[in-house]
Amino acid sequence: MKVGCVKEIKNKEFRVGLTPDAVKGYVNAGHDVLVEKSLGLGSGFTDDEYVAAGAKLADTAKEVWDSVDMMVKVKEPLPEEYQFFREDLILYTYLHLAADKAQTDALLQSKVKGVAYETLIDRAGTIPLLAPMSQIAGRLSVQEGAKYLEKIFGGAGVLLSGVPGTKKGKVVILGGGAVGTNACKIAVGMGADVTILDINLHRLSYLDDIFGARIQTMVSTDANIENEVKDADVVIGAVLIPGKAAPKIFKKKYLKEMKPGAVFVDVAVDQGGCGETTRVTYHDDPIFEVDGIVHYCVGNMPGAVPRTSTIALNNATLSYGLKIANLGLEGACAQDDTIYSAINTYKGKLTHKGVAESFGDYE
Ligand code: NAD
Repeated sequence: MKVGCVKEIKNKEFRVGLTPDAVKGYVNAGHDVLVEKSLGLGSGFTDDEYVAAGAKLADTAKEVWDSVDMMVKVKEPLPEEYQFFREDLILYTYLHLAADKAQTDALLQSKVKGVAYETLIDRAGTIPLLAPMSQIAGRLSVQEGAKYLEKIFGGAGVLLSGVPGTKKGKVVILGGGAVGTNACKIAVGMGADVTILDINLHRLSYLDDIFGARIQTMVSTDANIENEVKDADVVIGAVLIPGKAAPKIFKKKYLKEMKPGAVFVDVAVDQGGCGETTRVTYHDDPIFEVDGIVHYCVGNMPGAVPRTSTIALNNATLSYGLKIANLGLEGACAQDDTIYSAINTYKGKLTHKGVAESFGDYE
């Protein structure tokens, strides 16, 4: 099969669908790989590395789109890219169709086989192609919280770890799933005083087993949240109710009761956010302030660390991508039926139940 990769054209998106190592994987399996020139520069990979891995370079994205059987990307195609859609092209990337009717229509009309990272569910019930981004966002959330606690950014001027003779900073994490657990790991590592709240007692037991006496676990109730955030230096929003908008559990009234200059990092912003005062921000202007509390609400946090994110994403996508390239999409599904769950569009039909339901009027 001919496999391709183009630069992402979304604003400030430096991740790419294929690393040189992933290219090597496809080439060693007997596939031809064509990548756009300077593809990986934003993630720190040179053209020479791609060529050494066995890729051929194309001068333009159009050249790649027009000649490959499978396009491997990161983000959903933007309208400027719909012109390249054609029948039987396999598009392997994050698609997020439920929120994007224009792209869905374009994929259906052109009969692209749309394979979405975010809907692939494995036998353990996890979402393996989404997990690395949650790990990164969780770990970054504490790093960003610590940064915006600095006085120069409007923060309280607190060092999370403290030093001997001073109090440690307090980090409160709302939600103990993939993002929350990774945030917890970094906050504990930094030496902060950490409290994590979840509605799921099994999750709290797991966290208690893993982190022991180094953290405080609490059930997520309005009363506990209000009480815990009062003396917090950093609050991290990491809740998720799959398929639904995030519950607004971090209320506006809490802000006035909190320490001025505390930081709220709402990682759940991509699901609408779990703070009543959350609004989406971007990497080039990531913070705003409400009632003395610094808010950081960037919807694509992993984009801040494209090198790590690109490698982590490829670690997860390569094995499924290779199955598709080796056997064709249909053969890959026959061998590994979990791949069915990733197919969102096929021969002009919308084939993912959740996405179809979100549009209502699709067959
Ligand atoms: P997850 O399903 O692994 O964990 C979510 C946790 O929230 C679960 O343990 C659940 O029990 C808990 N929860 C649900 N309701 C709660 C409540 N009322 N109080 C406390 N806990 C509650 O999900 P995840 O992978 O950790 O993702 C969390 C959020 O982060 C999602 O919205 C995800 O889309 C988002 N995310 C954002 C970025 C970004 O760049 N901003 C990157 C990755 C993930």
